[in-house]
Formats: sequence, C-alpha cells, structure tokens
Amino acid sequence: MITMNQVSKQFGDLVVLKDINLEVKQGKVVVVIGPSGSGKTTLLRCLNILEQPEQGSITIDQQTVDFSKKVNKKEILSFRKQSGMVFQTYNLFPHFTALENVMEGPVTVQGVNKAKARKRAAELLEKVGLSEKLDVYPYQLSGGQQQRVGIARAMAIDPKVMLFDEPTSALDPELVGEVLLVMKQLAEEGRTMVVVTHEMKFAKDVADEVIFMDNGIIVERGKPDELFSQPKAQRTKEFLSLIN
Ligand code: ATP
Repeated sequence: MITMNQVSKQFGDLVVLKDINLEVKQGKVVVVIGPSGSGKTTLLRCLNILEQPEQGSITIDQQTVDFSKKVNKKEILSFRKQSGMVFQTYNLFPHFTALENVMEGPVTVQGVNKAKARKRAAELLEKVGLSEKLDVYPYQLSGGQQQRVGIARAMAIDPKVMLFDEPTSALDPELVGEVLLVMKQLAEEGRTMVVVTHEMKFAKDVADEVIFMDNGIIVERGKPDELFSQPKAQRTKEFLSLIN
C-alpha cells in the first residue's frame, strides 16, 4: 500500500532522512519510534508531501511520485488526497464547529455536496464518540475531544492511509487514553496506519511492525514483541533503556 524507495530529505546542509526504504502493507499498522530529532515527523510529512524529498520515490496504492524529477503542484495535491494526517496540535479551524471542521475537506477538496458531507461528518464524529458535540466550537472541547475531531476530519476524505504525528503528545495524561482507544479501533477495522508516537504501550499492543529511527536512518525494524524485548542494534537498546 505504501512504498518509500531510497527517500532522502535535507534542510539546508542538514540531512534529515537518508535513503529511507519502507513498505507498509494494506491494513497494517506501523509505529515509528526514535529519539527527538531523528527524523520521524519528517518521514511522515514526506509521505503526504508536506515536505518534499530531494531523492527517491513514494508510492501509495497505485500512485507514485518520483522526486528525482520535477514534481508539479497538481501531482502533489492529487497524491495528498490519499492520506489523512492527524497532527500533534489538532489544527482545527477555530471558527468552525466540530461538524464543520469534519465537513470542510470533503466539501472544498472533493466537491462533495453539503448535505452528504454533513451526514458523513456526523457519522464520523459518532464513531469517535462525539455525537453530542457536533455543533460546538473547538474552544469548547477538551484537548482529547479536539484530537478526536482531528481524527474524524482526517478520515472524512476516505483516505487510503492514515498518518498520525505524535497525536497524543500535546494532551494532558488523563486524555491520552481516549485518543489511543479511537486509534486502536481504527487499527482493528483494518486501516493502514503509520503512527509516530512515544506511547510504547500503544506500539506494543497495536503495531504490526515497529520502526526505530535514529539520525535519519531506519536502524531497526521488527514485530513489537521482538523489537522491544530483543533489540538487536546497540542504538535501539540504548533508546529503549532510556525510556523504560
Ligand atoms: P521529535 O520527536 O522531537 O518530534 P523527530 O524525530 O520527529 O523529532 P523531525 O521533526 O523530523 O524529528 O526533525 C529532524 C531534524 O530536522 C531536526 O534536527 C529538526 O531540527 C530538523 N528540521 C525539521 N523540520 C525542519 C525545517 N522545516 N527546517 C529546518 N530543519 C528542520
């Protein structure tokens, strides 16, 4: 479903991703872990071309973008429609209600008619446990509720893959569980997901594969049981010993 082939990205002189190769099969959940600054967020942002790599190619489903050639804006916009991104800081429109936030993508990006978009948005908000909050504004919601709106909004365009960038790290600890629960439900439904997170329990419980990144490379990857209990690389061992 997702293939990254020899993807490299740098900011000025700083090489942030080096020859990344990654494959995520349909319906699988890949969790990306690693120290701060290792390139996790950049990897995720490259997957929907919020950052444009200088080299390599990325395929999602049938669509491939080759970054060794000039990539035009139309190609980027079309590629971006294949993924739904959930950000650390929600990024909801403050002047839109929860329902309007979820409707916005389908109406403006996909040209879905408003009645249809409203119905689907209500269904998605119900799915994330917010059927009582359709008409409230983001400031009237807790951080956990706002993030659940963020998840519903990302799903509204019916993406082929869901990308989560540290979705719980801005939340108060007591609100983390409700967001992880929604993500776990999506995983159980067979959604293809790439999740950058520091929540190791989530990684252990939900991931099909865990990827450990350091310094712009994938150091090690494996099933969560194996990677957490028997890491092979010294750098993985050190990282895990620091967080446990
Ligand atoms: P964290 O866990 O702290 O979020 P990360 O593993 O997600 O870290 P990235 O956010 O991908 O790391 O950043 C990797 C490196 O790239 C860092 O050194 C960061 O300072 C740098 N970087 C990220 N975005 C930019 C940018 N837009 N311009 C310049 N440098 C950037």
